Amino acid sequence: MHVCVIGTGYVGLVTGTCLAHIGHHVICVDNNEEKVKLMKSGQSPIFEPGLSELMSSASASGNLEFTSDLAAGVAHGDILFIAVGTPPLPTGESDTRYVEAVARGIGAHLEGDYKVIVNKSTVPIGSGDWVRRIVLDGLAERQKAHTNDVATGEEVAAKKGVVFDVVSNPEFLREGCAVFDTFNPDRIVLGSNSRRAMDMMLQLYRPIVDRKYAENPSLPEVPVVMTDISSAEMIKYAANAFLATKISFINEVANICDRVGADITQISKGIGLDSRIGSKFLQAGIGWGGSCFPKDVSALVHTAEDYGYEAHLLKAAVEVNERQRLIAIEKLQQVLKILKGKTVGLLGLTFKPDTDDLRDAPALNLIDNLNRLGAKVKAYDPIVSQTGMRHGLSGVLVETDPERLADGCDALVLVTDWEQFRNLDYDKMAKLMNHPVMIDGRNFLDKKALEAVGFQYLGIGR
Ligand code: NAD
Repeated sequence: MHVCVIGTGYVGLVTGTCLAHIGHHVICVDNNEEKVKLMKSGQSPIFEPGLSELMSSASASGNLEFTSDLAAGVAHGDILFIAVGTPPLPTGESDTRYVEAVARGIGAHLEGDYKVIVNKSTVPIGSGDWVRRIVLDGLAERQKAHTNDVATGEEVAAKKGVVFDVVSNPEFLREGCAVFDTFNPDRIVLGSNSRRAMDMMLQLYRPIVDRKYAENPSLPEVPVVMTDISSAEMIKYAANAFLATKISFINEVANICDRVGADITQISKGIGLDSRIGSKFLQAGIGWGGSCFPKDVSALVHTAEDYGYEAHLLKAAVEVNERQRLIAIEKLQQVLKILKGKTVGLLGLTFKPDTDDLRDAPALNLIDNLNRLGAKVKAYDPIVSQTGMRHGLSGVLVETDPERLADGCDALVLVTDWEQFRNLDYDKMAKLMNHPVMIDGRNFLDKKALEAVGFQYLGIGR
């Protein structure tokens, strides 16, 4: 099928590349010329395991192209994905201006052929109808600019034979394993009131539904949840709100464990084995972050307020998380007392392992708070240190290896559970430190092994 994906971030580039890999002809559009240049030269602007290799093979097969020309993308695609960012506004609402610009641009370039416009971006409930409206406005504006005709979008569409439907197809991929998740989804959600659009989406995803590219092709078909547009939009918010709440829940229990002397890692195991609860997202730590959970939970709280409902539970999940983001500071103060003049080393900066994404990462909070308290902050992160991708980072010296990080530190905080942090030379690192203190912000390291080489070890809730 002919597909156009607009926005080539973590979601758009992975979606476009994977759809090209399974045989569709995909044009990816981005208005960032630098990014387009990079992608045209065969490089990925983001770090995502397996993505570069897939981009190369799909580009070589002629199935994957990149452009900054929206008109060319719209002309090419029978299915047009909107995959631009929806960052949070200071109010907690979602900033939909990029979606709006793209929808207007699509409208301005629509011609007679039937198109399916897909909201892949996470957008507030009701955005399906809103996008339809904006596309029609774009169509009317183009008509007015060309002919001075003041017809409505509906009138222009009728006259020109422009027919399109809007589908909500929220994305559930996890950064760090986005390619895997695209080929092995737990489910695909499609929201639309058009049978024709649904059929095209089913045809598009058929190879994935049939697990042709799955790690385990013998599994049953991927479930496809077909709903109205608003329900599909809500499924995305509800999923993220649930996961964030689950983490806040276990963090709250961890804080109680810290006081009563129980071990949260045992509690997580003990409750996670209950199939009604499940073991995932039960790891206590220094709080959730990243580009999705904080903004999506806040946006849902805001939507509830718009409709006269106070989302108590979600607000509490956010509050617990804000408090949890300070837990490493509390533990450092517990051990070192005064932080002014001390040097603290962070192991990891990204909000989770296997990504280069620093958006709303707990490390950023930690750096700000440590600076505010007068501490010097250093960090080592396998990706950030290697690639020099340091945008958004200030108040921290990024070291090139873990031993340089440890040198002269009064404490280390493990912020991101990168697999390579399991087997660092902690013996050598302890000897390089002023005080061998380890705050394990993800309960990830071997407490006994660290204590054996001289570390004072503090986990979260253990
Ligand atoms: P991103 O910020 O990484 O990428 C957005 C891209 O859109 C950028 O490359 C930007 O240059 C481009 N863009 C902006 N305006 C444009 C325009 N007018 N025309 C063309 N390109 C334009 O964003 P992301 O992380 O990929 O997220 C995209 C959406 O998917 C968001 O709504 C997000 O909430 C949702 N989502 C993200 C994830 C995730 O893990 N990142 C997971 C699920 C859903």
